[in-house]
Amino acid sequence: MGFDREAFTAIAGTLNAEEVAAQEAAGAHPGELFRALLDTGPAELVIAGVPGSGDRWAFCSAISDLAQRWVGLAESIHYQVLSICAFAESGSPEQRSRYLEAMCRGRLIASNCFNEAGAGSDLAAMRTSARRTDDGDYVLDGTKQWIGHAQIADLLFVYAKTADRGLRGITCFLVDAHAPGITVTHRPKTTGAGSLPSGDIRFDSVTLPADSVVGRVNRGMLAGESLFTQGRLGVASCALGLARAAVGRAGAYAAEHHQFGSPIIDFQGVAFPLAEISTDIAASAALLRTACAAVEDQRPDAQVLAAQAKLHATRTARRATDTAIGTLGSRAFDAAEPVLRWASEAHLLEVVQGTPQIQKIAIAAQLR
Ligand SMILES: Cc1cc2nc3c(=O)[nH]c(=O)nc-3n(C[C@H](O)[C@H](O)[C@H](O)COP(=O)(O)OP(=O)(O)OC[C@H]3O[C@@H](n4cnc5c(N)ncnc54)[C@H](O)[C@@H]3O)c2cc1C
Repeated sequence: MGFDREAFTAIAGTLNAEEVAAQEAAGAHPGELFRALLDTGPAELVIAGVPGSGDRWAFCSAISDLAQRWVGLAESIHYQVLSICAFAESGSPEQRSRYLEAMCRGRLIASNCFNEAGAGSDLAAMRTSARRTDDGDYVLDGTKQWIGHAQIADLLFVYAKTADRGLRGITCFLVDAHAPGITVTHRPKTTGAGSLPSGDIRFDSVTLPADSVVGRVNRGMLAGESLFTQGRLGVASCALGLARAAVGRAGAYAAEHHQFGSPIIDFQGVAFPLAEISTDIAASAALLRTACAAVEDQRPDAQVLAAQAKLHATRTARRATDTAIGTLGSRAFDAAEPVLRWASEAHLLEVVQGTPQIQKIAIAAQLR
């Protein structure tokens, strides 16, 4: 069907700052907007081989524009598309024909369940396990932590140990989120992206039929690989939008707010940090675009470029929000201002899909 960018932009254009702030404070996921935005077809841009695919930059720039208005919603769409791109690649024809279209259009909400209390950066340490029974089913036990969409998901992509072989003993399972034995045990109250519900999910002897396996047994991390690359690009896109929002707000405030008889933007101490960050934003966008092209062309440096794009864009968002807080002075502490929430969201974007240290490990591995 292709991506209707105009329709996506028109829907994003209806968002206003007050509504976003209210929904963030209420911690409510905007389900209708989520479905309407996905219904314009952005997910198809990142599914290899479908008509209209092959333009990751179009996807990333749309997500970045959305994040400029609402990071929580942009993150939510990005999470959904992450599930989609791995599933489109590794799911069986039967699985795909049953779920893929509904996922792409936002009618079924998905979660990716990797993270555990003792297995955040080190996924090989995960303890959630799926034990094979004599009749060929699996029994899933364990707890996943900080899972995006936990409370609203219809489908869970659960990564679980099926052999004692580290990353080569992990299998991906497609699980009905409402199956017996599944409980969302905890929803942390977050200081940013409150509209993106996340929580802990416990699996107590959940029976899974053999055809729940996505891809190959013990090779779940292969399904995860395209997800990690796309994950870096998607988070970088959110960070880029957030950085633009922060610099935009800081610049506007600095132009209207006066001290010593002048708008404060006339002082180099205020203007130069903004000039530097706007330069970093331009560099982040260029790097992200290069990374998108490398992923599309399946170049060997694609993963490193995606890691660099994520590292650079999230660091820029953190500096941009920090500078915006400094520029607004006392005004930043007025709850009507979003800049403190944005700062928290910038930190969040640094953590998810691999912390800065983990990105640096991936980049440095190519320097040997
Ligand atoms: C709001 C939110 C939503 C999330 N959504 C999801 C989701 O949908 N699905 C999912 O699976 N996960 C999700 N996560 C989890 C997220 O991916 C993890 O938080 C992230 O991978 C980091 O893991 P951790 O928090 O356990 O940190 P840790 O791995 O414990 O790291 C703590 C610190 O130690 C550093 N560190 C760790 N190892 C090394 C090392 N070898 N060298 C140098 N430094 C190191 C890290 O960089 C970090 O600074 C979400 C998290 C949040 C906050």
